[in-house]
Amino acid sequence: MKLHCEVEVISRHLPALGLRNRGKGVRAVLSLFQQTSRSQPSARAFLLISTLKDKRGTRYELRENIEQFFTKFVDEGKATVRLKEPPVDICLSKANSSSLKGFLSAVRLAHRGCKVDIPVSTLTPVKTSEFENFKTKMVITSKKDYLLSKNFPYSLEHLQTSYCGLVRVDMRMLCLKNLRKLDLSHNHIKKLPATIGDLIHLQELNLNDNHLESFSVALCQSTLQKSLRTLDLSKNKIKALPVQFCQLRELTNLKLDDNELIQFPCKIGQLINLRFLSAARNKLPFLPSEFRNLSLEYLDLFGNTFEQPKILPVIKLQAPLTLLESSARTILYNRIPYGSHIIPFHLCQDLDTAKTCVCGRFCLNSFIQGTTTMNLHSVAHTVVLVDNMGGTEAPIVSYFCSLGCYVNSSDMLK
Ligand SMILES: [Zn+2]
Repeated sequence: MKLHCEVEVISRHLPALGLRNRGKGVRAVLSLFQQTSRSQPSARAFLLISTLKDKRGTRYELRENIEQFFTKFVDEGKATVRLKEPPVDICLSKANSSSLKGFLSAVRLAHRGCKVDIPVSTLTPVKTSEFENFKTKMVITSKKDYLLSKNFPYSLEHLQTSYCGLVRVDMRMLCLKNLRKLDLSHNHIKKLPATIGDLIHLQELNLNDNHLESFSVALCQSTLQKSLRTLDLSKNKIKALPVQFCQLRELTNLKLDDNELIQFPCKIGQLINLRFLSAARNKLPFLPSEFRNLSLEYLDLFGNTFEQPKILPVIKLQAPLTLLESSARTILYNRIPYGSHIIPFHLCQDLDTAKTCVCGRFCLNSFIQGTTTMNLHSVAHTVVLVDNMGGTEAPIVSYFCSLGCYVNSSDMLK
C-alpha cells in the first residue's frame, strides 16, 4: 500500500531547543509493510517514507507506537500522525483525500497490531518514475495526447487541455483539489458542472472558445467567491450573467469578448477588485448605472451595439409608494439582512436587483430612468476605443428614486 503526498517530519524536541520546523513538506512516497521474523512471530508493521533524495527511505515502527492522529483536514488531503518513538509528528499534505483515508485506516490497524492485508513490500527503493506523480503542471493541446485511461496526477496545480474536443468537463479534473489554474480553452463545452466550485484553490479558469450559454448561479455562490481571480469566458454564446456573478469579489481579470451579452449584471460595481475588463464585440445597448463604481486599469468595449442616449426619461414613479416598495427601500437602506429562509425567494430576487439612485438610496419599481453618456476614462486608465470613430464614450443608465433626485441631477442628463 502506497500513498503519494508531501511529508514533513517534525521533531517534538525542536521547540524545546528553541528551533522551528521549516513549515514546508517534501514530495514523498509512503509505503506500509509488515515483517515477521523467527524471534518475533507477531507481525511488525512499518511506515517507510521515501523521497527523491532518500529513495531507500526512512522507516518508522507503527505497532503500538502512535500517540495520536490529527485528521480534521483529511478532506483537504491533510493529516498528521504523532509517533511515540521517535517523538515526531509526521505531517502529510497534498494527498488525494480518499487514498489518504484508506492509508490512515491501514496505519491505524497496524498500530493495533492487527494483521493488515498488505502485500509485503520487498523494500526495494522507490523508483524515480514514481515521483512523476508529483507533477504540478500538465499541458495537453491535442486530442491524441488526451489521457483516456489514466487518472491525472493528484498533485497538479496547473492543467491545460486545449483543442481536445471536450464536450463536457472531465470529472477526473474535479478531483484535483490542488488545482490553481485550469485551462479548458478551445473545446466544445456547453455547460459547466457546479462541482467546479469545489476546487477550493482555483484562481484561474480559462474557457475561451467553447459553446457555453450561461454561467450558473451555483458557481457564483461556490468557493470560487474566495479564490477565483481570472476568468476568461470569451468566444462563447453567453447572453447574460446572473446578478450573483458580482459575488465573485476576488475577480481582477474578466474577459467576455465575442459573446452575445445584451447586458452586464446590474451589480457590476460590487466587483471591487476588478482591474481588467474586456467585453468587446457583444450586443450591449448601454451600461448599468453601477458601472460608474468600477475602478479599472484596462477596459475594452469595442464593437458593441451601443444606443444613442434617450432624450426623454422613463417615468415610473408611484404615489403613494406601495407597501412593497417602501418596505424594500427600508430593508436595503438599513442593510437589514434577508434571505430565502425568511422571505419568499422572488422578493429576494427583487431586492438583489434593486436599482441604486444617484443619491445612494435604493428603489424597486418606483423610479425615473434616464440615459446619459459617460466617458469611459472616468472608470479606467486605459480605454480601448468603443468604435471606429475614435469614441471613448458609452451610454449609461441612471436611476432616480424621486422627482427631487431627478431635478437635482438633471444637469447630468443634459
Ligand atoms: Zn434618490
